[in-house]
Amino acid sequence: MTVLNAGAVAPTPDFAVPSRLETFCRTAAFDRPTLVLDVDRMEAQYHALKTGLGRADIHYAVKANPHPALLRRLVQLGANFDAASTGEIAQCLEAGATPDRISFGNTIKRARDIAWAHERGITLFAADAEEELEKIAAHAPGAQVYVRVIVEQSMADWPLTRKFGCDAGTALHLLDAAKGLGLEPLGLSFHVGSQTRQSAMWAPTLDAVAALWTRAREAGHALTLLNIGGGFPAFYGEPIEAPTDYAAGVMAMVHERFGHVPRIMAEPGRGLVAEAGMIVAEVVLTSRKSERDLHRWVYLSVGRFSGLAETEGEAIRYQFLTDRDGDPTGPCIVAGPSCDSADVLYEKRPVQLPLTLRAGDRVLIRNTGAYTSTYSSVCFNGFPPLDVVAI
Ligand SMILES: *Cc1c(COP(=O)(O)O)cnc(C)c1O
Repeated sequence: MTVLNAGAVAPTPDFAVPSRLETFCRTAAFDRPTLVLDVDRMEAQYHALKTGLGRADIHYAVKANPHPALLRRLVQLGANFDAASTGEIAQCLEAGATPDRISFGNTIKRARDIAWAHERGITLFAADAEEELEKIAAHAPGAQVYVRVIVEQSMADWPLTRKFGCDAGTALHLLDAAKGLGLEPLGLSFHVGSQTRQSAMWAPTLDAVAALWTRAREAGHALTLLNIGGGFPAFYGEPIEAPTDYAAGVMAMVHERFGHVPRIMAEPGRGLVAEAGMIVAEVVLTSRKSERDLHRWVYLSVGRFSGLAETEGEAIRYQFLTDRDGDPTGPCIVAGPSCDSADVLYEKRPVQLPLTLRAGDRVLIRNTGAYTSTYSSVCFNGFPPLDVVAI
């Protein structure tokens, strides 16, 4: 049983002092739902994480938010990048990243995309299957690879288990197979699951990967690279450890279990950019379905298909700010604007919102810099995708 360090809880953000981001979102004019990104806020988070990560290299998981302003700043800061597709690699190159700073971390790649990346100088690839190694050997001969290991027990709010990684026996086989194919197997990777709120929750995964690491070394593989993936949390209302403490906690656990590893990669996505973003939306309608209805319905101009995909299963619970905060509140079912009944954000656990809230009111959605703009559909129901503005 993992014991959580209850003392290491991030201080509740100071709501009394609005951030630059919040002030901008409250006062600027917007004609459609917009994600506003504060690039300086992202930079502060980068330094906080990097301080805790120490020797480990940050490879920003581009899929969390590929906005050019973020990528350009990260290039200036000396960050590296974890790209999932040729599109993301192109975005990193365009932002000024050199190919040696970009890893192709998706374990599911088309052969011609591997060839495309290889031609542009990408040398580090992820794999979790023999067929993937064969594609890499054919289209990026001699490339460096790391093998992604499956995470059996995730305590994350948004787990990434099952679809990615292979078990220990398969991983050992793939290290051998990579060698046989003329590739350079450098090490192992894993992902504890996104939004893993406390560093102590990493323990079971690190135990399992460390056991495999030892077995691989005993089998003659001189492993030099450990990729610890993402999972670094953002604040959505439930306590999380502060970023530096969290990253330092993870690294202490890594050092305890793995000893000296020449090269460690960390791939924060959410933990780096979520708190640097705020969505500006508005109330489209408030209603009750019957006179006896205990809940109000609040329909927003943004929903499941226009950026808030991670409300699926009510997994990620965003915090809402309005100009009426301070007025009496009641439980509300919050939904998006589209004509799709799946476009309900929070119903099982209704949200307390001001009873005075009505159509036209501005609603700010806190800490939405990750996994929002990229999940937004292009024109489902004729609603435009989430607009993005960097300040
Ligand atoms: C999505 C992803 C990440 C980022 O995960 P977060 O939980 O957002 O930090 C890192 N590595 C890989 C391989 C990913 O697919």
